[in-house]
This record gives sequence, structure tokens and C-alpha cells, in this order.
Amino acid sequence: MNGRERELIAVLEREHRLSEAEYAELIRGRDEEAAALLAERASELRRSVFGDTVYLRGLIEISSICRNNCLYCGIRRDNRQAERYRLTKEEILSCADEGYTLGFRTFVLQGGEDLFFTDEILCGIVSALKERHPDCAVTLSMGERRRESYQALFDAGADRYLLRHETADDAHYAKLHPEEMSFENRMRCLRELKDIGYQVGCGFMVGSPFQTAETLAKDLKFIETFRPEMCGIGPFIPHRNTPFRDETPGTLELTLFLLSVIRLILPEVLLPATTALGTIHPRGRELGILAGANVVMPNLSPVVVRKKYELYDNKICTGEESAQCVDCLAARLDAIGCHPAVDRGDAPGFAALRREAAT
Ligand code: SAH
Repeated sequence: MNGRERELIAVLEREHRLSEAEYAELIRGRDEEAAALLAERASELRRSVFGDTVYLRGLIEISSICRNNCLYCGIRRDNRQAERYRLTKEEILSCADEGYTLGFRTFVLQGGEDLFFTDEILCGIVSALKERHPDCAVTLSMGERRRESYQALFDAGADRYLLRHETADDAHYAKLHPEEMSFENRMRCLRELKDIGYQVGCGFMVGSPFQTAETLAKDLKFIETFRPEMCGIGPFIPHRNTPFRDETPGTLELTLFLLSVIRLILPEVLLPATTALGTIHPRGRELGILAGANVVMPNLSPVVVRKKYELYDNKICTGEESAQCVDCLAARLDAIGCHPAVDRGDAPGFAALRREAAT
């Protein structure tokens, strides 16, 4: 690590921001020593904000049916080999009940953009979930919708929304998506979600095709200025039935580096060590936490559908029962001196607002 790299890390730590050119320089100039220093600082910061607590989010993959055709994604519309499924309301509620018993207080409903889930149907599911488990947070990750739809879902009780921006560079966005999808619309959705009052998560894949230090610098600048409550990043992993089948996967090294940078930009952000990270390395998620992440999202989907929600090849935890996943993760956390949280785990700013509202 040279003096310049050290200086950039010191500025980032002190000011929680760099210029776009400096982010690119930090990424280009990185080496093992810089990564170790960043991880140490990021991990210390995570500990000072959240202690040893890691938040668990129960992920329920409600549909593998998708109208979109994202070039990287295994459940894209044109993948004729994909086995499609859709969970019923009762199945979703029973996954959540099981999760509740296992200690989860946040449920994440994620799926392809399945037109079956109209506002009416999805609102019905959200309100039933909140009625059964009023002490739980509901997070949605159902893609791009109209503002009125986001509003209706929020009014039905949804607390958070995950919508990765995928890349903050519009030319790059166009290379990852078909023509009918647009960067502008993705950004419109994120702005509206925030405006409505959701805790919002953006994010991107590390090592997606055509990604450069410059596009990553734009991602970091976007995260710095948009200030999401959550930020999901994980390695891009090719799926055999997509146009990107022969592309190179993202690396553990760069993902960990960026997790640390994001923690230093946003000390309070809820930052998951993703399943994709656990897929490219057997200890990927633990290493993610040691690099600054503070959330893990075990799978609560019914075991019979897990293999069908296949965004990328070789996804882990598709054969286990939910309880096994939780035990396995708890042991992994324990081994690195962390323990799973039992509360909803709102973003710190939102938690304070909720406490105020309750008094
Ligand atoms: N339909 C929802 C959920 C998408 S799946 C939405 O549009 O938001 C959640 C995330 O998985 C995506 O945002 C994408 O960043 C990631 N993903 C998709 N394909 C992937 C792949 N091949 N490798 C790694 N991550 C992938």
C-alpha cells in the first residue's frame, strides 16, 4: 500500500466521503494491505454502532415468474429451462410463522416481477403478515412498480423496500438490461420509495460484466449521496441459461473491499453478507461480516421451491430446512464472536423515530 492509498482511507474514515475520482483511485490502487486496513476500520465501526449483533432477515422467495429479461438473471423471462413457481398467500404466511418461531422479526418477500401480485393481492399478504406478527418488519423486494403501488403497500404495512440500483452508470445499466428497461425508471422507483417513507435498500453486483473502477466509483458516490438505509452487494455469478453464461464471476476480494468502503461511507447502514458471497467462498458470509457487513438473510422459502429460485448457478442452502439454515448461521456467527439479533433491527434513525412515535 502506498502513501496515497493510506491517505484516501484516512479521509474516507474521517469524512465518510471521497470524490468520484478518488473512489476510482482507491479501487484501482488496492492491494492486500489496503484491504486489511479497510476491513479493520470498517469492522471496528460496525462494532461501535451495532456491537456484536448481526441482524437476521428471513427471506421468502415468493415467485420465480418474471416479466423482465435482465441479462444476468437466471429467472429472466427468456430462460425457458427455468422451473417456475408461485407461493400462495397461505404458503407465504406459513413460512413466516415458521420463521417467527425460529426467532425472525423481519420477513423479506422477494420475487420476480410476477404480474399475478397485483396491489390488491400483495397488500392483502402484507397486512395479513403484519396482523399475525405485529412486532415484525416486512421488507419487500418485488421490483419496479408504480408510485401508487408502493404507496398502497406502505399503507398496508410494508416497512422496507429493497431495489438494487444495479449500477449508477446509465450506459452500464443499458448493457445489463434489455432495451425496455431503463436506468431512469429504476432511479425513479428508488426516489419514490424514499419519499413515501420506506427504509430503502439499493445495491449492485460486484464484478458484473462491463463494470469498471469508474462505474464502481459512481455506485459509491450514489450510495454516499442517496443515503439508503440498506445496501445489498454481492458478487455477480453467471447462470448457465443466460446471455452472460461465459462471463467471469465477481471476486471475494473485491466484494469484501467494497463492503468495507460502504461501511465507512455509511456507518449506520444495514449491510448484508449475501448468499451470493457465501456461494463463491465457503466462509464468504463470515468474511463479509469481518469486512463490515452486519446482516445475514437466511432462506425461509419452502424447501421444495428453493432450487427453482435460481438467480445464479450453485446457490447455497437450497437443500436445507429453515431451522438447519438458522442453526448453521448461528454457529458461523458464534465462531466470529457475533450473535444474531432478536429485534426488528430497523436502521438506527428509523428506530429512534419509532420509539418517539410509540411514546
Ligand atoms: N425482481 C426483484 C428482485 C431481483 S433478485 C428486483 O428487480 O429487485 C435480487 C437481486 O439479485 C438483483 O437485484 C440482482 O442484483 C441479484 N442477481 C440477479 N442475478 C444475479 C447473478 N447472476 N449473480 C448475482 N446476483 C444476481
